[in-house]
Amino acid sequence: MQEFPWDTPIQYLKKVGPKRASLFGKLNIETLEDLLTFLPFRYEDRTQIQKIASLTPEREVIPVVFGEIQSVSLSFAARLKIVDVAVFDETGVIHAKWFNQHYLKEVFKKGEKVMLSGKVRVNHFGGTHLEMESPIYEMADPDEPQLHIGRIVPIYHETKGLTSKQIRSIIKTVLDQYGKEIPEFIPVYLIEKYKLLPLSEAIYECHFPSSHTSMTLLNAGITLAHQCLAFNEFFLLEIGLALRKKTAATREKGIAFNPTSKYVLQLKGHLPFQLTSAQEKVFAEIAEDMAGVYPMHRLLQGDVGAGKTLVAFMAILVALENGYQAALMVPTEILAEQHFLSLKKYCEIFNLSVLLFTSDMKKKEKTEALAKMESGAVGLVIGTHALIQDQVCFKNLGLVVVDEQHKFGVLQRARLSQKGFRPDMLIMTATPIPRTLALTVYGDLSVSVIDALPPGRPPIKTYLFNGKQREKVYQYLKQAFTAGRQAYLVCPLVEESEKIDLKAATTLAETLQKEVFPDRKVGLLHGRQKRAEKEVIMRAFHNGVIDLLVATTVIEVGIDLPNATVMVIEHAERFGLAQLHQLRGRVGRGSKQSYCFLIAEYPQSNEAKARLQVMQKSTDGFIIAEEDLAIRGPGEFFGTRQAGLPELKVANLVRDVQILETARKEAFLWIENDSTLDKPESLSLRSALERKWKGKIEMLTVG
Ligand code: ADP
Ligand code: MG
Repeated sequence: MQEFPWDTPIQYLKKVGPKRASLFGKLNIETLEDLLTFLPFRYEDRTQIQKIASLTPEREVIPVVFGEIQSVSLSFAARLKIVDVAVFDETGVIHAKWFNQHYLKEVFKKGEKVMLSGKVRVNHFGGTHLEMESPIYEMADPDEPQLHIGRIVPIYHETKGLTSKQIRSIIKTVLDQYGKEIPEFIPVYLIEKYKLLPLSEAIYECHFPSSHTSMTLLNAGITLAHQCLAFNEFFLLEIGLALRKKTAATREKGIAFNPTSKYVLQLKGHLPFQLTSAQEKVFAEIAEDMAGVYPMHRLLQGDVGAGKTLVAFMAILVALENGYQAALMVPTEILAEQHFLSLKKYCEIFNLSVLLFTSDMKKKEKTEALAKMESGAVGLVIGTHALIQDQVCFKNLGLVVVDEQHKFGVLQRARLSQKGFRPDMLIMTATPIPRTLALTVYGDLSVSVIDALPPGRPPIKTYLFNGKQREKVYQYLKQAFTAGRQAYLVCPLVEESEKIDLKAATTLAETLQKEVFPDRKVGLLHGRQKRAEKEVIMRAFHNGVIDLLVATTVIEVGIDLPNATVMVIEHAERFGLAQLHQLRGRVGRGSKQSYCFLIAEYPQSNEAKARLQVMQKSTDGFIIAEEDLAIRGPGEFFGTRQAGLPELKVANLVRDVQILETARKEAFLWIENDSTLDKPESLSLRSALERKWKGKIEMLTVG
């Protein structure tokens, strides 16, 4: 059987060629498959062509007319250039008008047929006649009867040089040529069980819907055809995840730790508070994994401030007590430093050695540290990306913890765990993901959730200000300082360039010190400072010497100081929702009432407005995550590339979540019965999988 040419580069398709292929590239369309799954983002009902005589002005429904061009004229009025095209059908005449688009004069030719669609109005100027201002127009093409008119028409995202109409016509040609041969890859019994359309039909219907299809369903992307495509896509995704999970589970044995730990008991006695039941529950899950002989692959989710570090530390204690080494990797030096300082205190109780490892250590320090890791003289190592450098070797690394994992790539995680002999792995994230979705994205991992914050923390109050109200915020800060509290002020994101952001931060800190808070201590923290410098500043902040810490987003992750109760975010409209939530999570970490002041400048995009509203409405990371998902759409939200997943082109993780669940169930069942995809009925699935996941499966099983 001839394979379907999914991978054919688009340039070799009819009507495309190299020039258009490069334009398609801008739309991320490289292959035949990309093109076929490039679905319209909306549809227009152009089935009902109206007679011109029947048109009435200002109706709700925007009419479509079809007629012959009678005349084309260009006139000038004041500073306007007006193109006026008169079109008639056998019942009457209508005028189409465009302003300052005089090139259109060349587009329309007398005697040709054209389709117009736009709002109708009456022009009383110089006799009464009907007109449409700037209507959608399409020249009728004798080669393509009924492609752009007289049907429900797909509208595609365009790019400069490639119009929706051109794309439509290319897709039509491609579908006519290949459409009928598109092979099925999901098992036939599923098509029957769920009454799905054949794949070829579903693809065709999504591009060129039959004329009776509901416009509402079409524009919502939830027709039967759309849902079938979503099912197909999810099924393939979940097959991949099921395989990954299977491989992980049947992987060779690792370390079976003895999870009953005296250290953990002792630690609990030392803590000034009790573990929350959520923390206890999650630690029990981790301990069970660690006791098992297969390597743990667990994702620990918990909102900012939920107390993940402590849970991770208990896991670390188990590893150390069993005679293994543990590594804790974090995304920034500041966070590494902080974890080091706080965990060192605990380690001292048990006489355990702990070491900080970052890239800006002095040479001598570094050599010593490397030697200690290699000889096993040190138990716990806390560090940044520096830990995955080649020179780093461990004697017996038994547990890898990755904090704020969304800041790391999959491969980085994998590289760290390869420094041990199949160590257990715990990865932590404060970007909460609704559970079903988490299962999808991290389908090969077990998931634990710390779903409650420690008690006695009043929810942070959040207020929105505009730039002119800055003085009010400063007044409030002064009061807070007088009450002995400390505050953060996060600088605006100026642009992607760290250098420029830095300059803005430096200037702001200076101004605030000199002009606004001359009798208080203002500190500055950013990513480019030398380690020693950062250390001094963080320590001064922790000791209460610094009242106001002006910082770039380096403080986004992890920083923990309960006495800091105010977070001011400048240019809040520029930050993403997840980031705002993370930043706000730096306060509200103790029993005192905390505040977050968002200073936003105008004008704002609708998205920015929505984000700021969500921030005022909720402090719950899960709600915020869901809203974020709704505002941004799933692609960006998950950064699926980062998660090492194939991109979803058709399905939508929010809209189609029920389809996802069904597809997931069926996919896992399928893999249960044929875990190597060797059965004849799995063969087409297998090739689809290889195409879609392109090596991502192997890459991830190591992670
Ligand atoms: P995150 O989950 O954001 O990483 P942390 O681990 O930094 O949160 O914990 C936030 C703060 O809460 C820390 O100061 C920590 O000591 C404290 N904490 C952790 N567990 C509890 C608890 N059960 N009760 C009270 N405070 C706790
Ligand atoms: Mg943390």
